[in-house]
Amino acid sequence: ASDLLVCTGCGARLQHEDEDAPGYVPVSALQRIDPLCRRCFRMRHYGEFTRVVVPPDEYERLVGRVLTQPALILYVLDVFDLDGSLIPGFARLAKRHPVVLVVNKADLMPLSVKLAATEDWILYRVARTGVHPERVLFVSARTGQGFAELTEEMERHGLGRVCVVGMANVGKSSLLNRLTRRLAGDEPFTASRVPGTTLGTVAVEVTLPSGREVHLIDTPGLIHGKRIIDILCPACLRRAVPASRLRPRVYQLNPGQSLWLGGFARFDFEEGTFQPVTCYVSNDLVVHRTKLERAEAFGKAHADDILQAPCPACRSALGEHRPVPVVAGRFLRAGHAEEKALAVGRRGNDLVLPGLGWLALFGKDLRGKLWVPADWDVIIRRRFV
Ligand code: GDP
Repeated sequence: ASDLLVCTGCGARLQHEDEDAPGYVPVSALQRIDPLCRRCFRMRHYGEFTRVVVPPDEYERLVGRVLTQPALILYVLDVFDLDGSLIPGFARLAKRHPVVLVVNKADLMPLSVKLAATEDWILYRVARTGVHPERVLFVSARTGQGFAELTEEMERHGLGRVCVVGMANVGKSSLLNRLTRRLAGDEPFTASRVPGTTLGTVAVEVTLPSGREVHLIDTPGLIHGKRIIDILCPACLRRAVPASRLRPRVYQLNPGQSLWLGGFARFDFEEGTFQPVTCYVSNDLVVHRTKLERAEAFGKAHADDILQAPCPACRSALGEHRPVPVVAGRFLRAGHAEEKALAVGRRGNDLVLPGLGWLALFGKDLRGKLWVPADWDVIIRRRFV
């Protein structure tokens, strides 16, 4: 019978199978006379935003509808997984609305990385998707960093509607909850401040410090199934996705040595001069140095006891590793660069493993291979320093 009921708040069809999908309601609550999905229930009674995710086709429909009217768009990104937080096709939806990038989880970045140094890269990647933001703000929904600037930005625009968008897991609900609590002076929201919901979106009325009222709209997160957070089991995610500020791990490597990053990826240093390689990955992910000649066998023998993640099920979901050649220094100049090799410049580069982190190389002579699951794109970028 549950599939005949719709939420009286947002109109989504009620279901009790998928907690993250629209219309989710626990079985026990299905008996209510005035049925509300959990998301609308929490919004109405606690003024709390709850995460909800939808697939691409539904996303376009729902977010497209919200953006038919003028609004300031807060486009939330995860600083640790920038490429994974880009919404495919968002330029079409954003149209002529002003866009401010809200780069969340700033608390995860190592202290040695200046956030401002990442701004050009972020703007460049976002511009490649056809979106041209007015500004980049760095925030942390966890610590509250950057929220004063965020409210100032909402004041400055003077728009009555502020629409918050983002891929699943960028921290959109955490951010909205902190923002509304902050604006309400830590008072819980009352039902009168919730102006009703429309399919797929929930909204609250907030008062900015200037006294201006703003309609703050949450949209569902997009999930396209290709990021590691879409693929890995909860136990593997706890190891692979950072929960605390990254502590870069530096390895002084000789040619003939390899580094395993958990069992997710491996860097083989084949030829070149002794040099540091710095790993920016979750502090809970094992990084293990081995001899290159034993590296593959080591990975097979110790996938579960030493490397620990991914687990056998996640391993098969990620599939076989493929090699990506990497060259630097004289191997680059001497024309050794193989086709499709990642070419590390003299000042060094970061090799980005989307969702997992990055390796910093410093541009000394090097020829090697980075082994990654076949579907992963490795991106090379200027070092964040
Ligand atoms: P949503 O899917 O975009 O609504 O994201 P959530 O708000 O549910 O957050 C997704 C995950 O990111 C959760 O595990 C949060 O605890 C975490 N998270 C959210 N904001 C931050 C932040 O500012 N810093 C850190 N370190 N983690 C965050």
